[in-house]
Amino acid sequence: MPETTLRAERLGKRFGGLRAVAEVSIEIRRGEIHAVIGPNGAGKSTLINLLSGELIASSGEIKLGETDITSLAPDKRARAGIGRAFQKTTIFPRFTVHENVRLAAQARSRAPLRMFGGAFADPDVQRRTADAISRAGLAGRESIIANVLSHGEQRQLEIAMVLATDPAIVLLDEPLAGMGQLEARGIIALIASLRERHAVLIVEHDMDAVFELADRLTVMQDGQVIASGLPQDVRVHPAVRAAYLGT
Ligand code: ADP
Ligand code: MG
Repeated sequence: MPETTLRAERLGKRFGGLRAVAEVSIEIRRGEIHAVIGPNGAGKSTLINLLSGELIASSGEIKLGETDITSLAPDKRARAGIGRAFQKTTIFPRFTVHENVRLAAQARSRAPLRMFGGAFADPDVQRRTADAISRAGLAGRESIIANVLSHGEQRQLEIAMVLATDPAIVLLDEPLAGMGQLEARGIIALIASLRERHAVLIVEHDMDAVFELADRLTVMQDGQVIASGLPQDVRVHPAVRAAYLGT
């Protein structure tokens, strides 16, 4: 696998006259957590949607490894290794934890979907299901119906469903939104552990969590990147202090 996992070059997205994302270049490397911060309306979610394929870029290019994925549909990007969670609930509320994760694991499988035999009996699907449940901290909770899980556990389940697809990169849009302190601690630890096997892009408002997690940081404002680099360098960048941190 190449050093660079996901690279966007001069990415742009217009909504009518509004440039929601303008000339954004960003590189997310395997083994790193890359945080994107910026005020409301800066274009962070639009950027994630462009990377996941929910939105198609107006300009620029996106490469996963050596593959140009700029105009691939979301399902094809998922199969190419882009995993996406949050601000789009994919959990089936009446299914168990195990069923939800198994369905996510199956979505990445080539075997046909059949309840008996087919992909559900595929040992690779079973392995990815068990592995994702365990990594997300849900071992022992497999038979719980999703909609009775706590808020924090539902977030763990969403992460498990992404992990089950064996992604090269995990995209997280505000994974700590609506979390209490204690629940947030668990999710932060879980996200930190993802860098062992994946590239991670996280958009998050909680600055303590961002500076705890991020190996690299990109700051956006009005659709543009105003600073990027190591957290300690970005933190003291004059434009960032003026525009965002308010100091
Ligand atoms: P952030 O996630 O940083 O808060 P967004 O990416 O959600 O910002 O939004 C960036 C800008 O694009 C905002 O001005 C927002 O109103 C606008 N925007 C986002 N999505 C759409 C859309 N589907 N149609 C029109 N405007 C949009
Ligand atoms: Mg957003």
